[in-house]
Amino acid sequence: MGSKGDNVAVCNMKLERLLSMKGGKGQDSYANNSQAQAMHARSMLHLLEETLDNVHLNSSASPPPFTAVDLGCSSGANTVHIIDFIVKHISKRFDLAGIDPPEFTAFFADLPSNDFNTLFQLLPPLVSNSCMEECLAADGNRSYFVAGVPGSFYRRLFPARTIDFFHSAFSLHWLSQVPESVTDRRSAAYNRGRVFIHGAGEKMATAYKRQFQADLAEFLRARAAEVKRGGSMFLVCLGRTSIDPTDQGGAGLLFGTHFQDAWDDLVREGLVAAEKRDGFNIPVYAPSLQDFKEVVEANGSFAIEKLVVYKGGSPLVVSEPDDATEVGRAFASSCRSVAGVLVEAHIGEELSNELFSRVERRATIHAKDVLVNLQFFHIVASLSFT
Ligand code: SAH
Repeated sequence: MGSKGDNVAVCNMKLERLLSMKGGKGQDSYANNSQAQAMHARSMLHLLEETLDNVHLNSSASPPPFTAVDLGCSSGANTVHIIDFIVKHISKRFDLAGIDPPEFTAFFADLPSNDFNTLFQLLPPLVSNSCMEECLAADGNRSYFVAGVPGSFYRRLFPARTIDFFHSAFSLHWLSQVPESVTDRRSAAYNRGRVFIHGAGEKMATAYKRQFQADLAEFLRARAAEVKRGGSMFLVCLGRTSIDPTDQGGAGLLFGTHFQDAWDDLVREGLVAAEKRDGFNIPVYAPSLQDFKEVVEANGSFAIEKLVVYKGGSPLVVSEPDDATEVGRAFASSCRSVAGVLVEAHIGEELSNELFSRVERRATIHAKDVLVNLQFFHIVASLSFT
C-alpha cells in the first residue's frame, strides 16, 4: 500500500494492485456506504430479470453446474443479494420448464486488494446437499457453491466457455489506469489544477474516453471467450446524459466539486504542493450511451438486447434530509468509501483525514444542493452471446 507523504503518484503504481473500496465494516467502509447502490440495483431488478429470462437452460441428463459471476463484487452485502436473486430466478425457470435444476456455482470476482474476508463473512451458510432443492426458497440459506476470484476483469479470469451468466454493477466505470498523458506535465492532456475529468480540458477528456473504450474492449474480449453459448451478461456502470465527457453528471458532482475544492484548500493552506494534487486523478469515467455502444458494436461478439441510460438517483442515504450535518457526513463518507484508498496511497492517512474533513465541511454548507443535484445515471446493458 502507499506510504505516508512519499512521492508515489497513484498513476505510477499499477492501479489494479492498489484499488479497492474501503474494506471492513467501519463508518467509511464500502459495506456501510452502499445502501444507495443497493436501492439503485433493486430498481433495476426487472431489467435483470429480462436478461436472466434470455439465458439458455441446459436440459441434458447430467448438466454441468449453472455458473454465475459477479464482476467487481466489492465487500458489501449487495453482491450476495444479487447472486441470491440470480440463482433463485434461474432455479424457478428450471422448475417452470419441468427440467431438473443443475447445481449452482457463484464466483465473486474483484481486484486482489478487495476485502474478500468481509465479503465471505456475509455469506449465508450452505444448505446441505440432500436438501438443496427443497431449501432453494428458504431465506438465510445458500443453495450454491462459492469462490472468490482475484484479478482484473479487463483480462481473462475463467476458462473458456464455462460461464452461463455475468453480472457487474457499478464497476465498469473504473478505468484500468489513469492514462499516462494525463499525469505527464509536458503533455497537452496534463490535468493541471484538477483531480478528475469533470471540468477538465478537451485533450484530457479525450485521453480518458480512449482509456475507457480500450478497457471496455478488453473486458468484452475476455468475456466473449469465457461465456457459454446461450449465456448472457447484465452490466451496469455509471453513465452520463451529456455528450460532453467533461460533464460527468453525478460522478462530476461527487469528485469534481467539494472533493476538488477540498484538494484546493490543502494546496492553499500549504499542506499539499500543487503538483502533488495535480498528480492525483480519480480513474473513473462515466460514459455516454454512445461511448458504450461503439465498443460493444466494434467487438461484435454480443447481441445488444437492451442498452439504456437509467436514472438511479442519489448515492446518499440520509435519515434526516434537513440535517445539513448528516448530509455533509454522508457525502464525505460516500466519497471516502470509494476514493479513500487511492487518496491515502497518494498523500497518506493524516492528510487524507484533513482532506475528507474539508469535503465534509464544504458538503455540509451546500447540503441542500448536494441532496437535490447529486443524482446518478447508469448505463444498463443486457448482452447475449449466441
Ligand atoms: N458491485 C458492487 C460493488 C461496486 S464497487 C455493488 O453493487 O455494490 C466497484 C468495485 O469494482 C470495487 O470493488 C472495485 O475494486 C471493483 N473494480 C474496479 N476495477 C476493477 C477491475 N479492473 N477488475 C475487477 N474489479 C474491479
